[in-house]
Amino acid sequence: MSRETLEFQAETRQLLHLMIHSIYSNKDIFLRELISNASDALDKVRLESLIDKDLAVDTSDLHIEIEVDKDKRTLTLRDNGIGMTRDDVISLIGTIAKSGTAELLRKLRETTDGGAAQALIGQFGVGFYSTFMVADKVTLVTRHASEAQGTLWESSGEGAYEIESLDEAPQGTSVTLYLKPEDRDDQLFDYTAEWKIREIVKRYSDFIAWPIRMAGEDQPVNSMKALWARPRSEVSTEEYHEFYKHVSHDWTDPLETIHMKGEGTFEYEALLFVPAHASFDMFSRDGKRGLQLYVKRVFIMDDCEALIPQYLRFVKGVVDAHDLSLNVSREILQQDRQIQVVRRRLVKKVLATLKDLKAADAEKYGGFWGEFGRAVKEGLLEDPDNREQLLDLVLFSSTAAESTSLREYVERMKDGQTDIYYMTGESRAMVEHSPHLEAFLAKGYEVLILTDPIDEVWVEQVTEFDGKPLQSVAKGKVDLGESEPSAEQAADFADLLSWLGTTLQENVKEARLSTRLTTSAACIVGDEHDITPTLEKMYRAMGQ
Ligand code: ADP
Ligand code: MG
Repeated sequence: MSRETLEFQAETRQLLHLMIHSIYSNKDIFLRELISNASDALDKVRLESLIDKDLAVDTSDLHIEIEVDKDKRTLTLRDNGIGMTRDDVISLIGTIAKSGTAELLRKLRETTDGGAAQALIGQFGVGFYSTFMVADKVTLVTRHASEAQGTLWESSGEGAYEIESLDEAPQGTSVTLYLKPEDRDDQLFDYTAEWKIREIVKRYSDFIAWPIRMAGEDQPVNSMKALWARPRSEVSTEEYHEFYKHVSHDWTDPLETIHMKGEGTFEYEALLFVPAHASFDMFSRDGKRGLQLYVKRVFIMDDCEALIPQYLRFVKGVVDAHDLSLNVSREILQQDRQIQVVRRRLVKKVLATLKDLKAADAEKYGGFWGEFGRAVKEGLLEDPDNREQLLDLVLFSSTAAESTSLREYVERMKDGQTDIYYMTGESRAMVEHSPHLEAFLAKGYEVLILTDPIDEVWVEQVTEFDGKPLQSVAKGKVDLGESEPSAEQAADFADLLSWLGTTLQENVKEARLSTRLTTSAACIVGDEHDITPTLEKMYRAMGQ
């Protein structure tokens, strides 16, 4: 059959260019990426065959095989997993569908620092394309389990790839790398050496649940032990981190690892991670979220949303629930009582872990907050049951501190101060220059500065902390204990006030004399129940 040449999408071309010119110093990880893809494909075919009894696949020996050829300088990795259709190959291998690609490329172009570029690409992860760090040509042959025809894909990673339909092909996928000639004499990059391959597999992929074998050998190179099922004391930090990279497709180490086990009525194991960086799609509507679900070591689904609330969507990992049916659906999971119990426990554990981190390492916690704080604050609305715990996690900036917790604020409250004061606005500078602050600063009161759009929303729901009311400085009458304007002052300004009242009647309800300002001549104050200017803007922007 005839070969077709297709162009890579522009973003793909740019990323490939970066990979070929080896922006990433640790080239070994290309093998981890290939194994990770093969393992996912094996998970999928097993699941498919359990659900669809008519699927004509042989699942008796699902495995990954690696073959090296020293003379030809090739490395081939085969799996007998689900495989890909021709359309899959074009859409999955020829394009980068990840949201945030354009953003990543823009940032990459802006940075001149190689280390920073590596960190960026590491956060993004480039999966299959990492093969071009070590190969100057890659050939992929694949056949989807439900189809008779296969597909061949080949590229040197430069501007285009070739694609061809094949009458036959073994089920699954094989990827052959033609290793770069310039690495021939470098022991460090000798990917045709069996010892080298074994070492990389042991280091990065030991926990993969499927046997990874060297061609012609029976004994798997990896131990295949599901990490979450092993006792904590037997798992090293490196193993946890490699596992994290496998499930999250992230290239950087996680910030926190949470390994837990539930016994009793519902047996389950969970291995969760808090990443070091927010993914590019965290705040986009179509971003992926949820955990991987297994039932007694059998992979059931990715992105299982029922296991973790929306505001903790940055948490990655695996839950193995022992008593679920293998063909449980997403809809059923949302209703399942066992899943709800597990989810509650995971939330408690994640929040407790974050609390401990905050107490133990303020700097590390500050880093966490910078990445994920906006999401955690959503929990103040989404998860009223855990509101107390969440309020202990939240950090704010204020007129007195770059960063403070509510508890620290309360500890600094002045004698006679009864309320926790805050002001919302678009930016710190805007709030700081607001006349509303004057009287509070004059009294030495600290005011929290809330500049995330979500702040406008949760302050409506959360009315107190530690028995102290949260009070906006821009709303209602704030009792700062100062005197009412004197009768004499009132008489002096009566004409001005009535003139202002008439002139501005379209815009304000009333113009009144106040002693709350110290240097500004006037300021606008909302009613207790009015919406704030920023919220008004937000609603307008949403078309309401
Ligand atoms: P990611 O694994 O993060 O999705 P990759 O670049 O590693 O990104 O792979 C892109 C996609 O190509 C995978 O999501 C998968 O759908 C498909 N794919 C890659 N390798 C295989 C394989 N061996 N078998 C089946 N599908 C594969
Ligand atoms: Mg991958």
